[in-house]
Amino acid sequence: MTAASSVVELTKRLIAFDTTSRNSNLELIAFASELLEASGARLRLTYDDQDRKANLFATLGPDRDGGFVLSGHTDVVPVDGQDWSSDPFAAEIRGDLLYGRGAADMKGFIAAALALLPEFAALDLKRPLHFAFSFDEEVGCVGVRRLLDDLKTAGIKPALAIIGEPTSMKVVAAHKGGAVIETLARGREGHSSAPSRGANAVMMAGEFIASLAALGEELKADRDEHFEPPYTTIQASVMSGGTVVNVLAREARVIWEYRALPDRDANAIFTRATARAADILPRYRTGAPEADFTNHVHATYPGLVRDLDSPAVQLACALSGSNDTHTVSYGTEAGLFQEAGIPAVVCGPGSIDKAHKADEFVPLDQLESCTVFLRRLAQRATQ
Ligand SMILES: [Zn+2]
Repeated sequence: MTAASSVVELTKRLIAFDTTSRNSNLELIAFASELLEASGARLRLTYDDQDRKANLFATLGPDRDGGFVLSGHTDVVPVDGQDWSSDPFAAEIRGDLLYGRGAADMKGFIAAALALLPEFAALDLKRPLHFAFSFDEEVGCVGVRRLLDDLKTAGIKPALAIIGEPTSMKVVAAHKGGAVIETLARGREGHSSAPSRGANAVMMAGEFIASLAALGEELKADRDEHFEPPYTTIQASVMSGGTVVNVLAREARVIWEYRALPDRDANAIFTRATARAADILPRYRTGAPEADFTNHVHATYPGLVRDLDSPAVQLACALSGSNDTHTVSYGTEAGLFQEAGIPAVVCGPGSIDKAHKADEFVPLDQLESCTVFLRRLAQRATQ
């Protein structure tokens, strides 16, 4: 089988594993492990607390510092409630496009890396080629942190990492960071005709959301024109609370996020938001001293700070034959690699516009471009 035909077959094969983040990814990891071991790679596995999910880190070539990491997450977002034209886990080629959940985000990239294993194994590698396949990226870059901790403990120091998130094979040198936060408003029930003899948690939550909107407006003043939009954003996108219209609500829940410019103090946003929540409380506490907001941070992930001198950016530009670098507003594991001291860049097949939606696809020529890119990268590892 040629690399070109096997990358398509492998993408289909990987899509067939339903690795929606809530599920185990162990079957996919076992499948990839087998291919890597057959090519002579050395494997390291790290698991979640329940041993239901694993990160796979594998190395081909010499046992020494340096080398390049090809990084991809194995999990995918749910298809629940989405209107697909074909089975999302039985990939289908229509025209020049390969459809399936994860085709772009990001099993196509992992498939390209695996498809080249026989070629990589035949090279006289002077520097290691590493593969990092993580779990639970889609729920806040959770899994890869264990993989990075393991590398640190083991003293493994790759020179750089290519994160194959869908960028249409453009070189993305920076992305925003962010956090997902759940804020619970607690009040006291009472008759809605006497709001001051209780605390209406739905009204508290509403005021809190309005304060987030106001904070979002203030944050627009701090701009970095490399990004679109060129400022930090705040959005509340889930809220619930209350029972019936004539009872003051005892509880209301808001889930919100910020997406921050990467080299700013992101914690300050959380601090400012919670300070505003505290400002809302006195008026509600007159009717219910226990009225309160509590915050639970579900996930945070650092941004990828733009550094055009980064060896990862320079190598990706050289391999793609273009010095154009780009910036995106979605999060990836690249920020965590960078934070761990491994320069990182984002470059992978398919478009982020097609990810997370019904009828996600990757164009076949993008898989081919990715194969060419990775082949060139491996050549660099022979020098
Ligand atoms: Zn992704």
